[in-house]
Amino acid sequence: MIIFDLICGDGQHRFEGWFGSSKDYAEQQARGLLDCPVCGSNNVAKAAMAPNLGRKGNQKPTTRPTDKRPEPEMGKPVSSTSTVLAEYQEMIGKLAKAQEKMLANSEWVGNKFADRARDIHYGDADEKPIHGTASPEEVDDLAEEGIAALPLPLPVFPPESKN
Ligand SMILES: [Zn+2]
Repeated sequence: MIIFDLICGDGQHRFEGWFGSSKDYAEQQARGLLDCPVCGSNNVAKAAMAPNLGRKGNQKPTTRPTDKRPEPEMGKPVSSTSTVLAEYQEMIGKLAKAQEKMLANSEWVGNKFADRARDIHYGDADEKPIHGTASPEEVDDLAEEGIAALPLPLPVFPPESKN
């Protein structure tokens, strides 16, 4: 008596076949006498001897759980300061909006700020908000004359440069 692992070529069903000898198997196979107990197919052949056949239940894991830990990602620089940077950028954004709002009704006078501020201060021009650029010396002079020149938190781009 000999037992072969058989497989049907139609459904890949595996089953055992009992034969008097391997010659018996060959004859029955050649004459199409073998049929699959699952689907009845006559397309039956000896299954390749699979050493891991039936090992599904007690199969050793090929990888230990610790092997499945993903490799640390490379090439992505991170820093704890990134959150600070994000806050900073958000703050600058808010500041820029606030400044924009503040200057919405203000006239850009470029580097004539000191002159215009003096004109307004001494009543030679209508009082209105202006903004422009002034050198530290000009700011000092204005301060001595009691004219406020508040530094803006952010640089202002002259309107003509926006085109
Ligand atoms: Zn079958």
